[in-house]
Amino acid sequence: MQLIARTAWGAPAASPAAALPSARGVAVHYLGVRYDSRPHSQCAAQVRSVRSSHLANKQENYLDVAYNFLICEHGAVFEGRGVRKRSGANGGTAQNASHYAVCALHGTSGQPSDALLRGLGEAIAHLQANGAGREVVCHGDLTATACPGGPLTSWVRAGHPLPPISTPPNRPEEDAVPTAAAFRARDYTRKLRPDEWTLLNWTRRQDGEKWATKDPEPSLLLSACQYTASFGVRIKGLQPGDEVQLRFSYWAKKKEGDGWERVATTPIDSPAHVGGSGHFTYQWTGRLPAGRRLRAEVLHFRRDADAKVVCDLADFEASYWPA
Ligand SMILES: [Zn+2]
Ligand SMILES: [Zn+2]
Repeated sequence: MQLIARTAWGAPAASPAAALPSARGVAVHYLGVRYDSRPHSQCAAQVRSVRSSHLANKQENYLDVAYNFLICEHGAVFEGRGVRKRSGANGGTAQNASHYAVCALHGTSGQPSDALLRGLGEAIAHLQANGAGREVVCHGDLTATACPGGPLTSWVRAGHPLPPISTPPNRPEEDAVPTAAAFRARDYTRKLRPDEWTLLNWTRRQDGEKWATKDPEPSLLLSACQYTASFGVRIKGLQPGDEVQLRFSYWAKKKEGDGWERVATTPIDSPAHVGGSGHFTYQWTGRLPAGRRLRAEVLHFRRDADAKVVCDLADFEASYWPA
């Protein structure tokens, strides 16, 4: 789940809403007005405007944005009141005490995107892990309203299924994937300097809309996307007690001059190792903003100054879909 915390979209850190440690379930809402598709960079502003309009609503006398979570068409989950808080959205005190509320940033026309449905499903699961019971209903089940509209009502009625992760349009053709033999014939050996993150080469790379398997380089995915990626490395020459860490990093064009710089990294998996050779894998699901490169890195903390540590294999798998 790509959770965007309150402070990240411009709300005060804590919601002043009343606590609600548990509830029977979750109610699904939509915006209920015309809403045109827009780039993700504008979604936080949309969430702020929903909150402002709620705070300006004297009749309802809201303390905060009324929903526990708001989900954009790109699948990001914006934290509203958050978990274990009473919502103000369900149409009455009893309804707000019985169900938490999630709102799709979806209007009165068009179909919700798969990413939005996934985000909704993830927000519901997150609430269920934090006090919500199994019941998932439409706002219209609790009070007389058309909310959340036809397509989302059908989705709730169908058991709110998570859409499958779509096959990326530029997924490599079968024959573009190197065979295991061809893969092993390449030289991927790279020396691991102690205490220094080493970039790994992908076994294939994205080249515009196509995949190239020649000249692997340590970058992937040059367009905005959501991705699930994993890589594995085989490392030789480890000593007892050596530690190996793996991570992905995001790189952006330098503001000045040529080249790229690391702007973010994923949480580190930190397998400790007893020595000899080892095979390590790392997986991460995330969102890559436009213009960024995704790179994989490995780090070896050296215990023995004479150890010759090399990474001789780096394999990579990814599925991704445009954001
Ligand atoms: Zn509603
Ligand atoms: Zn968005």
